[in-house]
Amino acid sequence: SMASSEKEAALAAVPSDSPTIFDKIINKEIPSTVVFEDDKVLAFRDISPQAPTHILIIPKVKDGLSGLSKAEERHTEILGHLLYTAKLIAEQEGLDDGFRIVINDGPSGCQSVYHLHVHLLGGRQMNWPPG
Ligand code: IMP
Repeated sequence: SMASSEKEAALAAVPSDSPTIFDKIINKEIPSTVVFEDDKVLAFRDISPQAPTHILIIPKVKDGLSGLSKAEERHTEILGHLLYTAKLIAEQEGLDDGFRIVINDGPSGCQSVYHLHVHLLGGRQMNWPPG
C-alpha cells in the first residue's frame, strides 16, 4: 500500500544535515505547486497526497533544522511562523471544518526528508489515533 511504501521510505532514509530534495524545490530546480511563499517559508503540495489537501510548509533556510528534534532556542521564531502559516493556508484552502497538522521526526516518527516540514492535511475526516 501507499502507507507501507511511505513507511519503507522513512525507514530507509538516513537522518542527516545534508541538503535534501526540498532545497531543490526552494531553489526551483525541480517543480512544485507552490501555494504560499514569503521571505522565510515555502509551502507546496505534497507529491503523494494523503488527503484532498496535503501541503508541506518548510523553512527556506534549514539552519540545522533537519527535524524538530534538532530545534534550538534560536529556532522558536521560525517554528511559530511555520505553524501560523499553516493556519493561513488552511483558511486559504477553505478547511473551515478542521484540519490536521503533522510533524514526523526520525525513523520511528516516519520522517523521510531531513529538512523540517509541517504537513497540513484536510478535506476529509481524519482519524485518531494516527498510524
Ligand atoms: P515525511 O515522511 O514527514 O518526511 O514527509 C516527507 C513528504 O515529502 C512525504 O509526504 C512525501 O510525499 C513528500 N515529498 C517527497 N518528495 C517530494 C517532492 O519532490 N515534492 C513534493 N513532496 C515531496
